[in-house]
Amino acid sequence: DALANQIAAGEVVERPVSVVKELVENALDAGATQITIWLEEAGVELIEVQDNGAGILAEDIPLAVERHATSKVKHYEDLSNVASLGFRGEALASIASVSQFSLTSYHADEPHAWLLQNQIDGRWSDLTPTAAAHGTRVKVASLFYNTPARRKFLKTPRAEFSQIEDYLKRTLLANQSVGLRLVHNQKQVFDYPPATQRARHLSRLASLLGDEFVEQSLYIDQTLPGVSVSGWVSLPTYHRGLADKQFVFVNGRIVRDRQLLQAIKLAYADVLYHGRHPVFVVFIQVPYDQVDVNVHPAKYEVRFQHGRQVYDHVRRAIRDAVMQPLV
Ligand code: ADP
Ligand code: MG
Repeated sequence: DALANQIAAGEVVERPVSVVKELVENALDAGATQITIWLEEAGVELIEVQDNGAGILAEDIPLAVERHATSKVKHYEDLSNVASLGFRGEALASIASVSQFSLTSYHADEPHAWLLQNQIDGRWSDLTPTAAAHGTRVKVASLFYNTPARRKFLKTPRAEFSQIEDYLKRTLLANQSVGLRLVHNQKQVFDYPPATQRARHLSRLASLLGDEFVEQSLYIDQTLPGVSVSGWVSLPTYHRGLADKQFVFVNGRIVRDRQLLQAIKLAYADVLYHGRHPVFVVFIQVPYDQVDVNVHPAKYEVRFQHGRQVYDHVRRAIRDAVMQPLV
């Protein structure tokens, strides 16, 4: 019911960046290769996300905005085997309970797009036919209009916007083959084309992390039993590093795991690197059933079944790579 949704929203939807994250993850889960995001007032007035992904069948649209109606996890046991980014099935319902919400989707098996929106009384409109491109477009207006306490706790638009930018930057790094465009208050902030060739890849990296990083980093790609480690790591001779240029992804998800960061720092310590902060974009892949990403709704933490082994492999893979140029 409405109240349960608002309570759940407190967990999932803390601020505009939480909405952006859930909507972008849904787009990625739907296989989108192009995502456009429009914001007004750092997302407080409007967050609109359009993707060219698979779209949603008409009969599934009302289910998609219901709590725990996720199509991705049919049974609870499936939770241990989660490949998609979303799996709790409560994001859309939660977001819709604290905003003026509409969803338009055009699935290839439908004759046209369909629109569903919530009304002032909290009920859902009937599905209505509409015109739209293939894919899905979700519009979230007046976030927290009905939960003034939450709205009052928002930071300045500048601070909220910078959190959204940080999130999108990590998303751009983790999803190089996806094009991402951001428009804020009717001005285009960026427009990254899908990076499918190496040149585009590097140009995206350069614009996100600096030309110098691209020149002074190594590409690593190591597969060991139970874990593979790939990405870009700065050479030990690179001294321009900043702590906010350290990115770690596990199975495509952005994580902030202290032990993983520690393992990477130890790799640099192993080669006697005493510079300020190494810069890195590291992708770790482990079997889905050996990692628990369901630790917190914000989904930034991970728990590995074989943590020690993963940390050791990560440390060794990076140490071996950055040691090369030194010998
Ligand atoms: P979850 O992502 O955890 O399953 P959500 O509330 O975020 O839950 O979404 C509910 C369901 O709606 C998804 O499982 C998916 O089937 C569908 N859906 C949501 N957004 C999109 C999208 N952009 N494209 C296609 N399907 C979507
Ligand atoms: Mg989701």
